[in-house]
Amino acid sequence: MSILQQIHTSLIDQKELSVLLKRDDLIHPDFGGNKWRKLKYNLGQARAESKTTVLSFGGQHSNHLYALAAAGLYFGFKTIGLVRGNPPEKLNATLRFLKRRGMRLEFIGWADYRRRHEHSYWDELREKFGPKIYIIPEGGTNALALKGVAELVDEVEARNRYWAVSSGTGGTAAGILYGLVRDHREEKVLVFPALKGDFMEKQIVTLLDKAGVDSQEADWRIIPDYHFGGFAKYDLELVQFINQFKTQQAIPLDPIYTGKMLFGLFDLIRKDFFPKGTQIIAVHTGGLQGIRGFNERFGNLLI
Ligand SMILES: *Cc1c(COP(=O)(O)O)cnc(C)c1O
Repeated sequence: MSILQQIHTSLIDQKELSVLLKRDDLIHPDFGGNKWRKLKYNLGQARAESKTTVLSFGGQHSNHLYALAAAGLYFGFKTIGLVRGNPPEKLNATLRFLKRRGMRLEFIGWADYRRRHEHSYWDELREKFGPKIYIIPEGGTNALALKGVAELVDEVEARNRYWAVSSGTGGTAAGILYGLVRDHREEKVLVFPALKGDFMEKQIVTLLDKAGVDSQEADWRIIPDYHFGGFAKYDLELVQFINQFKTQQAIPLDPIYTGKMLFGLFDLIRKDFFPKGTQIIAVHTGGLQGIRGFNERFGNLLI
C-alpha cells in the first residue's frame, strides 16, 4: 500500500491538470518501489514450495538485487545474486549492500548472462546450487510479478485518467495493464522506456500474453523519446530537473527510471499532450538506492 501525493507546479496549474504521484518508493526504505511489488508473490511462492534460497540476476547497480537481498533477509530466505560482468576491484555501494545483507554474489560474464532466460541454464543452476533454490528472472519480472503490481492499481479508485510509468523489463507496465484489464477499467497508460530500442512494446505484449491478457484490450502506448541516449545515460538537463524536483517538492527521484519518466511527463504537459482537466497518476517506482552509485560514478551531480 502506498500513498497518492498531489503535485503542484505552476505548469500543472496553468494547464489545469491534476498530477498525482503514487509513492511506491515509500513502501519500505530498502525493499520498496516496484521491485517489492514484483517480489511479494514470488517470495510467497518460494515459501509455499519450501524453497530456502532465492536466486536472481542483475547488473552491478541492480535495484532488483538490492530489494531481493533486503527482503530475503527480512523474510528468512538465503539469497544468491548472479551479477553481470567481471568482479570489480572495489565493490560499489549497491554491491556492498548486497554483501552486508548476506547475499551470495557470483559474477558471471556476458556469455552466461545472455543465457539468463534459458531453461537449460536454470537447470544447470539448480544442479549447481541444489534443489532448494527458487529462481526469479532478471528485474523480478514474471507472471507472479504482474499479480503483485496489479495491486497498485487496486489501491486507486477507477476513473477516466492517464497513468505514467517507467519501464525496463516492462513487468511493471504490464502489471498495471493487467490490473486495469482484469477489472475492466478503461484508463490510458503511457510507458516511458529507460532503455533505447524498440523492443519494449513486444516485451509487454508477451508478458500480458503469458498472463492471459490480450494487450489490445488496454489503452496504452510507448513514449520512446525520454531515455536520454540509453540505459543510465543522462544529460545535465535531466540532472537539473531531478535536483529542482527535489528542492521544490521535497521528493527524490532516481536518475535511471522515475526521473526520466517525470521529465518526459512534464515535457508532454508543456506540449499540451493532455486535455484540460485530465488527471494523471505518475508511478514513483523507487530505485532511490541508485542515486549513491550514480553520484559515485559521475561526481555527485545529484543533491
Ligand atoms: C526496475 C525499475 C523500473 C523498471 O521496471 P520494469 O518492471 O523492469 O519495467 C522502473 N523504476 C525503477 C525505480 C526500477 O527500479
